[in-house]
Amino acid sequence: MTADVFFMDLTATSRENLIQKLARLMIKAGIKDVLSEKDLTAVKIHFGEQGNTSYIRPIYIREVIRSARDLGANPFLTDANTLYVGTRSDALSHIKTAIENGFSYSSMDGAPVIIADGIRGKSETAVPVDQKNCKEVYIGSEIVDADALISVAHFKGHELAGFGGTLKNVGMGSASRRGKLDQHSNVSPKIKRKTCIGCGECAAHCPGSAIYLEEKKAFINKELCIGCGECIVRCPTESVKINWNQTVPVFLEKMMEYSLGVLKDKTDKTLFINFITRVAPKCDCLPYSESPIVNDIGVVISRDPVAIDQASADLVNGQQGLPHTVLTDNLGPGQDKFRGLYPDVDWEHQLEYAEKIGLGTRKYSLKKMKTLSYKKG
Ligand code: SF4
Ligand code: SF4
Repeated sequence: MTADVFFMDLTATSRENLIQKLARLMIKAGIKDVLSEKDLTAVKIHFGEQGNTSYIRPIYIREVIRSARDLGANPFLTDANTLYVGTRSDALSHIKTAIENGFSYSSMDGAPVIIADGIRGKSETAVPVDQKNCKEVYIGSEIVDADALISVAHFKGHELAGFGGTLKNVGMGSASRRGKLDQHSNVSPKIKRKTCIGCGECAAHCPGSAIYLEEKKAFINKELCIGCGECIVRCPTESVKINWNQTVPVFLEKMMEYSLGVLKDKTDKTLFINFITRVAPKCDCLPYSESPIVNDIGVVISRDPVAIDQASADLVNGQQGLPHTVLTDNLGPGQDKFRGLYPDVDWEHQLEYAEKIGLGTRKYSLKKMKTLSYKKG
């Protein structure tokens, strides 16, 4: 089976600007078949960490909102809180960051920002998936409860996954804090004794009563820890750290199993959009952005989450790498830019595994949308 991936480049003319072109691409890709009247539609994006400048420009997201609303749907913008301490680790700071980065109720044409896993990242739904690594996955409840999902991902490099696109936006991005910790690690967090000041904040908020204090230092009882990640964001001295004991292939497989959980029960109610623009070497979770590794390429849309990421990776790898960036290997057209950035990360494993568990297909047909010619006169 081959999936269609619809592509627009970034050429605009007096007959059609890029916002209008995006609207036309969404129609070509079948948004009308995905959304129905009154569908509560989660538009899953990444608002960007404060200081990051690579995330998708809000004016494009507003067009996604408007296109959904034109079909009678009720869209809202969403993302789940982060596992790490930053400017998006609870719903209040997350919404503040979203507003500061340009995603507000007024700028988004009346679509609210609703954080998928609630004010403290605890509003989660356990979704059974019964896969090799995860029997159930923990997803932000607002995404589970939505009637439809439009994932809008910024396609770029990623330190752990090789690249981040649709599958990462869906699988990791929709997971609650517990779900994120579950994907990153299979053991409890650890406490840095050197910096722990014994304040007891972590213990006071641990739902498993797994933390105890001895001689003004915190300790975690692994038997009681349920892996919720609450202690990580509660610690005022950032002394609680993730135990990065998981291998990259298992991390990627879990992320795909989480994607499966997110998309479960949304058959025919999903659309995936990748912006292959400002292809930074690292994640938008960083509070800065490095120079893009290739020139801006365009936007792709598909109903298949695997095909769209495969097509996006191929489009990036088909480019000439730009000079004066952190990419110093594999710069030639056709060379693997993600391996050039992260030689030890087998990024293809996420696509192979996603295909294996039935998320979609790596075989795709790229449908290039024509640019409308200039108006005469
Ligand atoms: S991860 Fe959750 S359950 Fe485990 S020690 Fe931290 S707060 Fe407690
Ligand atoms: S919250 Fe942090 S500093 Fe306070 S006791 Fe726990 S680990 Fe130590």
